[in-house]
Amino acid sequence: MAKKTIGLVAHDEKKDEMVAFALAHKERLGMFDLVGTGTTAGRVAQQTGLAVTALRSGPLGGDAQLGAMIAEGRLDALIFFIDPMSSMPHDVDVKALTRLATLYDILFACNKSTADAVLAVL
Ligand code: PGA
Repeated sequence: MAKKTIGLVAHDEKKDEMVAFALAHKERLGMFDLVGTGTTAGRVAQQTGLAVTALRSGPLGGDAQLGAMIAEGRLDALIFFIDPMSSMPHDVDVKALTRLATLYDILFACNKSTADAVLAVL
């Protein structure tokens, strides 16, 4: 069976949390193909040693690239640590990505507790 692919995105205030999550689940995450928006992917790769394919940075189209992967059936799960306390210049892209994850019914976690649960079932 082909390896499943997980998308990783964390808003700036949530990047430390994403790195901590990836460190805590390093062994398990290493069993999947990982792809992420540019800065998130770079931080996770650098601080955990995991291989993460980096797309564009989120505000520069990375969210849209992940959305396209979902529409093409190339993403099995999305872990998207959204910052609920800040407004984003690329809010439309954030909305589009969450909409596509919902529409295509992929595993979709937007906080740590749900991400823990998603990893447990993948
Ligand atoms: P980034 O993008 O990982 O490149 O910072 C995340 C986002 O969508 O804000």
